[in-house]
Amino acid sequence: MKPPRFDYHAPATVDEAVALLGRYGGDAKVLAGGQSLVPLLNFRLSRPAALIDVNRIAPLAYVREDNGTVALGAMTRQRTIEFSPLVARRLPLLTEATRWVGHLPIRSRGTIGGSIAHADPSAEYPAVLTALEGEVVAQGPRGQRTLKAGELFETYLTTRLAADELLIEVRLPAMPAGCGYAFEEFARRHGDFAIIGIAAMIVRDGARCTTARLATAGAGPVPVRLREAEAILERDGLGDAAIQAAAARAAELVTPDGDVHATSEYRRHLTGVLTARALKRAVERAR
Ligand SMILES: Cc1cc2nc3c(=O)[nH]c(=O)nc-3n(C[C@H](O)[C@H](O)[C@H](O)COP(=O)(O)OP(=O)(O)OC[C@H]3O[C@@H](n4cnc5c(N)ncnc54)[C@H](O)[C@@H]3O)c2cc1C
Repeated sequence: MKPPRFDYHAPATVDEAVALLGRYGGDAKVLAGGQSLVPLLNFRLSRPAALIDVNRIAPLAYVREDNGTVALGAMTRQRTIEFSPLVARRLPLLTEATRWVGHLPIRSRGTIGGSIAHADPSAEYPAVLTALEGEVVAQGPRGQRTLKAGELFETYLTTRLAADELLIEVRLPAMPAGCGYAFEEFARRHGDFAIIGIAAMIVRDGARCTTARLATAGAGPVPVRLREAEAILERDGLGDAAIQAAAARAAELVTPDGDVHATSEYRRHLTGVLTARALKRAVERAR
């Protein structure tokens, strides 16, 4: 299928892009890597009056650290993130999660901003943003605002970004030195979207767990932060019994939908299994 007709604009600056979004009054779509939007256009599931192609806004692609926060420009390609030494050093969970995103050609075009704005419930980046308590910066006609991960994702493929807002930056607190982490995922074939994914980070102090972070991909319309499972680890430590108890609680905390790929029960079961696996690997890594 071919997409329906649309106007095409390729602004050179963020201000221009925002003005164009405003001009179309919600009937324009931002074109980033195109890896999700173009299939939607071709299947005519999305019929915007205009595409605002932000690929020429070079200042939107960067990775930098400032005061313990790693900032990634919205147009930073997933492939750049995969091989960024700064990301590997300060956000190794993001590096590991990126390897699960589609295939090489998809990661070469796909962007972090596009993935988060698209808000696919099975995508890896929203789960990492949620686990690490990150935030995004959006720019619209009324200026800039930040939205925390917990308030950004509304439901399937829907965020609380306004139609005339451009996501310009993703901010993630640098992970503590010596923390343990793991991104575990089950997909039918390599490169497929996750049936379930689990993002995990722990900070240990001897046998104690001072911080635990767990978030899901694929276990509901938006990423689920598994706070009660985290609380078990922070109370009982990181031994096998605590990990099994946290994993069992994780499975109880989600109410996934069933679809052609997996039933709700199977997704819930996987949530427990992958939480245990992610925690075991995270503990092995933690110093
Ligand atoms: C075969 C295949 C397999 C894939 N597998 C995975 C996978 O395993 N995991 C995964 O996470 N993803 C997967 N993807 C999707 C891929 O990661 C996309 O790159 C990503 O979802 C969208 O990023 P994009 O830059 O291509 O955005 P686009 O497709 O250009 O845009 C996606 C949506 O976000 C909006 N948008 C984009 N940028 C902005 C912005 N800066 N501000 C506001 N709105 C914006 C667009 O208007 C559009 O609605 C797969 C894609 C394909 C084709």
